[in-house]
Amino acid sequence: MSTSSKPKSRAPAHPNTRAFKHNKNSRLTRRIALVGTDGLCKKCADKIEWRKKYRKYKPLSVPKKCNVCLEKRIKAAYRSLCAACAEAAGKCPGCAESAVEGDGEDEAGAKQRATSSGHDAGGSA
Ligand SMILES: [Zn+2]
Ligand SMILES: [Zn+2]
Repeated sequence: MSTSSKPKSRAPAHPNTRAFKHNKNSRLTRRIALVGTDGLCKKCADKIEWRKKYRKYKPLSVPKKCNVCLEKRIKAAYRSLCAACAEAAGKCPGCAESAVEGDGEDEAGAKQRATSSGHDAGGSA
């Protein structure tokens, strides 16, 4: 008799539109996009931003050994110090050079000072 007329509005319009996109890169890219450059010096931050931008960033598959504590704590690529050691030493986790802005105790600090010199004139005379 009367056929079951189901309203078609309930049916999925596009069942396969966005199910599985085998785009390996997009997932990786998203993961890479989350990689921050916190604590890194300008040089290292630039390097990583560049790699991210040009899809050259290669995430670590296994944790890397920290140069200071020798523990495999480094989870981000292109770093030689773990976050804790870098912070404790006030160094850039990337190149392990002094990168903390402000008081530069090492010679690397002088390098930074040279960069920011120019507006330094003035003050108590
Ligand atoms: Zn460490
Ligand atoms: Zn650095």
